[in-house]
Amino acid sequence: MSERFIFTKHRTTCYNCGDDADQIIKAVSAQAQVVCSHCGATRIFVPRIEHVGEKGTYTPIGCYDVWELETAAPCKHCGTTGPHDLVIGCNHFTTRCQNCGYTHFYRFNLEYIAQCPIEEEG
Ligand SMILES: [Zn+2]
Ligand SMILES: [Zn+2]
Repeated sequence: MSERFIFTKHRTTCYNCGDDADQIIKAVSAQAQVVCSHCGATRIFVPRIEHVGEKGTYTPIGCYDVWELETAAPCKHCGTTGPHDLVIGCNHFTTRCQNCGYTHFYRFNLEYIAQCPIEEEG
């Protein structure tokens, strides 16, 4: 990921390890991901739609675990580096430029545990 768009973190209880740990949040045009800094549980989101939209257009409904965050990021639409709304749910990941309303909508794709220790024999 050489392109830098969203890079932030959110401290919360990890759904996988149950620890209160920083969840590393990264997004570029091609992909978004959330990684637990403690256990390495990773959720990958793939882009679905990019457009200029009204706030809340894709806010997920009825999700048990929605994070509503704000982070500074460079907008590729208006070119401003400024606050973006970040809404991350169990199967949605959206970013929205507060300046022009440009929205990236990602859909949950897969999850895996990155730090999976392999037992060595002997
Ligand atoms: Zn974890
Ligand atoms: Zn913008």
